Amino acid sequence: MVETKLYIDGSWVDGVDGESFSTVDPATGEEIAAVVRAGRVDADRAVAAARRAFDTGPWPTTPPRERAAVLRRIAAAIRADAEELARLESRDAGKLLTDATEDVAEAAEIFDYYAGLAVSEGGEIPPSGPDAVTLVVSEPVGVAALITPWNFPLLMAAQKVAPALAAGCTTILKPAEQAPLSSLELARIAAEAGLPPGVLNVLTGFGPEAGAPLVEDPRVDAVSFTGSEAVGRIIGRTAAETFKRVTLELGGKSPNVVFADADFDAAMEGSAFGVFFHQGQVCSAGSRVLVERSIYDEAVEALCARAAEIRLGHPADPEVSMGPLISAEHRAKVNSYLEHGRADGAHLAYMGRLPTDPDLAGGFYFPPVIFTDVDNTMKIAREEIFGPVMAVIPFTDEEEAVALANDTTYGLAAAVWTSDVKRAVRVSRAIRAGVVWVNDSQPAPVEAPWGGFKASGIGRELGRHGLRAYQETKQIYLNLD
Ligand code: ADP
Ligand code: MG
Repeated sequence: MVETKLYIDGSWVDGVDGESFSTVDPATGEEIAAVVRAGRVDADRAVAAARRAFDTGPWPTTPPRERAAVLRRIAAAIRADAEELARLESRDAGKLLTDATEDVAEAAEIFDYYAGLAVSEGGEIPPSGPDAVTLVVSEPVGVAALITPWNFPLLMAAQKVAPALAAGCTTILKPAEQAPLSSLELARIAAEAGLPPGVLNVLTGFGPEAGAPLVEDPRVDAVSFTGSEAVGRIIGRTAAETFKRVTLELGGKSPNVVFADADFDAAMEGSAFGVFFHQGQVCSAGSRVLVERSIYDEAVEALCARAAEIRLGHPADPEVSMGPLISAEHRAKVNSYLEHGRADGAHLAYMGRLPTDPDLAGGFYFPPVIFTDVDNTMKIAREEIFGPVMAVIPFTDEEEAVALANDTTYGLAAAVWTSDVKRAVRVSRAIRAGVVWVNDSQPAPVEAPWGGFKASGIGRELGRHGLRAYQETKQIYLNLD
């Protein structure tokens, strides 16, 4: 069984007030484990440990090559435990086992990637005269609080922990209360890989109790948060009080633009995947499918046919293509958009069926849904649903497509389907989003920056940008005269 205590300063410890909470299996609604419900005092201890590990070392001053070696050992250990980790992640977060398996592989890749950057990203020497030399160097920003969501628990943890460690920061990881187990496993793996005590602390618990104290604490230098817009706003505001470095990866209502000149089958497959992948519980989900009018009817038919192929069921069943939503509360929220769609006059073109297996009766299943004839002003076109609900919106020409794509408060991602390379570039440049896919949906290579414009957030993760989020820049001016 996995650890269910807090990991603070290199030890597994109980919470100070002895409280716990259940993490459940969304596929059945059954409890998997009781996990420590950390509070303010526990957060204080974790911050103290991270602070000490930063201020007295050795991690921030450990030679990058040695830090890289630890990261590589973490990657190797993740790979060695991959099957076990994928099963745990699948169970705790209701992810298809096949998807969880990919997440685990990618988490390992992220640690390897940042091991590489730790030893290859140097500083600068700006031009100067003969009497001076200026060195521009990067230093770790300090203690980083890493707050993650439940949809990709291990992957999001890796995406924050790996660059933070590569930069020489010390960290407190606060996983989402719905799926905390893989983050506890990561702590075990990191310790076994030789990460010194206090460098990675894991605090399980609820946001306002275990997360908020980290954001308020003046001893924390940086916060990286992935989650809802509402909590992102609170975190940004709170972090400003102590001038923390902030990275926010928030919601989206991403446009998926299908032009008539696109490879039709590829566009339909990608559009369906873009919104139904992981039950739509993906910040970059292509939840607004914009379709050129000349192919609109054909596209609606094809999208409904694809949705009809989706089989709901237990996430570990290899025949199944859609698992449960994360929780009963979340299902109720997603369900409320069925009413909004109808009330606003959208046409419910498709709704799938729930699994009939009695063993799954306690799970939080929700069927794929397609609304057509959606107007971009409707609630289902404006608000992030975070469920398998597609809104299909017709457009007449490229200009209208771009206007609709940008008519959103968000700006995380967009997909553009066309065979015209000039149009692909034109539209990609015109869309105000941090990630644009051409003739694809959802790839997120480790080497490229990920993050949003507008209300989708601040800053970037992954790639070189992901490392910079954890680095301060310093100039050292040497007078040679
Ligand atoms: P979701 O709505 O998808 O559950 P949230 O934004 O509520 O997303 O949660 C994302 C992460 O933020 C979780 O780890 C959660 O515990 C944490 N969190 C929630 N509220 C706060 C808060 N006030 N301060 C810090 N962290 C929070
Ligand atoms: Mg769970």
